[in-house]
Amino acid sequence: MEAAGTTVAAGTTEAALACDSVLSAAPALSPEARFEAAAHAATAATPSPESPLTAARGLPHPASTTPLLGLGQAQLQQWAQDQGQPAFRGRQLHDWIYAKGARSLEAITVLPKTWRASLSASAGSDQAVSIGRLPLLHRSDARDGTTKLLLGTADGLSLETVGIPSGDRLTVCVSSQVGCPMACRFCATGKGGLQRSLLVHEIVDQVLSIREAMDRRPSHVVFMGMGEPLLNIEAVLAAIDCLCSDLGMAQRQMTVSTVGVPKTLPTLAERALERLGRAQFTLAVSLHAPDQRLRQELIPTASAYPLDALLEDCRHYVAITGRRVSFEYILLGGVNDHPRQAEALAKKLRGFQSHVNLIAYNPIDEEDFQRPSAEAIESFRRTLLDRHVAVSVRASRGLDQDAACGQLRRRLQGAPNPAPAAAKAIAQGLPDTAPG
Ligand code: SF4
Repeated sequence: MEAAGTTVAAGTTEAALACDSVLSAAPALSPEARFEAAAHAATAATPSPESPLTAARGLPHPASTTPLLGLGQAQLQQWAQDQGQPAFRGRQLHDWIYAKGARSLEAITVLPKTWRASLSASAGSDQAVSIGRLPLLHRSDARDGTTKLLLGTADGLSLETVGIPSGDRLTVCVSSQVGCPMACRFCATGKGGLQRSLLVHEIVDQVLSIREAMDRRPSHVVFMGMGEPLLNIEAVLAAIDCLCSDLGMAQRQMTVSTVGVPKTLPTLAERALERLGRAQFTLAVSLHAPDQRLRQELIPTASAYPLDALLEDCRHYVAITGRRVSFEYILLGGVNDHPRQAEALAKKLRGFQSHVNLIAYNPIDEEDFQRPSAEAIESFRRTLLDRHVAVSVRASRGLDQDAACGQLRRRLQGAPNPAPAAAKAIAQGLPDTAPG
């Protein structure tokens, strides 16, 4: 999910070109193979770890400088010592990067001037380091307190992040990719395709940027911004690790949301246990339809991942992690909001210990889906409740500020974006089944 007001140049990176070429070379592939191609492209679009510094946390780094953001205290201490500094300089760096939110090494005035000068002098060399903070390109504030930020990456791309206040809570909706290859038909991000997966520091930065912009400490993080988190599992888990260890957030206050990528749910569960020691974040699976036919109309990539197989993988995930799964369901007026469809959904989820979140669709400018009526939302909710399905309706926030995934970025970059090769390749060969 995602956000940007003046013209923001869309970046053209080697990574993005590599990604597009992989997928455009795949028109003859089966839907399953296209998923593999999308996953490979997402990985290929992420620079690989090169320095011992970033490899310490399994962190890839951008081509120009190595970011310190994303490293833990032990790694920063080690790095300071490798630089000929005492270990406590690493602790000072940690404090300034995470607690004080420093944006540049020059701003960390407790560090010796000579060291800061030598670090600045290394700019442009392979030894160059930076904190890795992303510049703010645009800020958009809704009347209900929701704030959207458009942040720029070192390679000229842009991504959205959203801060959603509610009482004592401040939830940050973070992006895991720039764009998304999943091509969901109701989503502004899906219309632009995938540019690349985000790096760990680019995910963590979103939480720091919201904290800075809203002058409040975020309490919750949801991976529901731009991108499919399960095509960027390692970076998502590393970011969760960093947010918990270095920013003091709780894993239980985090949610990872997916529309489903074959074979990745067990991987997510196993890697979370290996990497984090536990998988306490909430897994939210986007269903959006009670049957396979409608689901693949709305989510073209779902044709390679039958609904029953997805639900079976959810059960597997629950068995591995011991955590309940929640299901997301975007209500599209006249498409999937009929009480009969609520009945079918309840039947599908029978025996599943789960919770369904209903979300009323936010219309995208020229899109032909409609927001459901208040009566339709209530009737859908009531039908599920009557069948003993735990359900809640998520309040729409920031409606006056391009609240839905990808709307702000799209508006500022000029909509519509042509669908890139990534999305086309995934959708190719699937039935042309426009909803309605
Ligand atoms: S709704 Fe679909 S296309 Fe949009 S970001 Fe999520 S997975 Fe990608």
